[in-house]
Amino acid sequence: MDDGQAGSLGGMPISVNRFRLAKVDAVLLSWLLPPRCVICGARGVRECDLCAQCLAMLPPARQACPRCARARGDGALCPACRRIAPDFPLARVQAVFAYAFPLDALLPRLKFHADFAAGRVLAACMAAHFAAAPAPQALLPVPLHSARLRQRGYDQTLELARPLARALGLPLRTDLLHRRRATAAQTRLDADARRRNLQGAFVVSAHAPLPQHVVLLDDVMTTGATLHAAAAALRAAGVMRVEAWVCARVV
Ligand SMILES: [Zn+2]
Ligand SMILES: [Zn+2]
Repeated sequence: MDDGQAGSLGGMPISVNRFRLAKVDAVLLSWLLPPRCVICGARGVRECDLCAQCLAMLPPARQACPRCARARGDGALCPACRRIAPDFPLARVQAVFAYAFPLDALLPRLKFHADFAAGRVLAACMAAHFAAAPAPQALLPVPLHSARLRQRGYDQTLELARPLARALGLPLRTDLLHRRRATAAQTRLDADARRRNLQGAFVVSAHAPLPQHVVLLDDVMTTGATLHAAAAALRAAGVMRVEAWVCARVV
């Protein structure tokens, strides 16, 4: 533990306790700049950039099929997933929120407008949601293709994954799964076209030893085709169990 460091102030040697200074800084900062709600601008609650009203308004994902996260009243496998063979690559998909207001505003703000405050709030919500979930050996954000990353300048899923991995103490691995080719934007494609669009899109690094249990992380899940393709690549490379955590599921 690094508990002190010698410095100087006006030529006088001083002892700087970094931990104590960081604590004082945080208290001072929250007094000078109290947390503001990223949705409405009102004062945030408990060092969180959301006010109590907006926090209560976030739409939870409803009881869902454990494989595809499609909403179901009873949380059992949906008819489509029941028909699929047992070697379906995704063992379980869990969504925190339904993709409705205000998620349909916050997630695009993070994705297209570099609103990292929105990202931190959503990552904190995800950390609270998954705190009691069985810990995987690694958290893998679904990667962007390098061309898309260059164009945008940041990876929105990584912006969620970093604080989430830190909060839950999970190893974050960005070296295992890669996007081999840039895929066409999926927004206007139906489920079959999305699957075709993603065939062979992901590749797993051959040189690294693979964890046996991983969780894929994505910001939004629509049909699940992206997660399915990434999970299939990981399973084919030898990962035993692949699950997915998503911030919001389109219902
Ligand atoms: Zn608010
Ligand atoms: Zn299902």
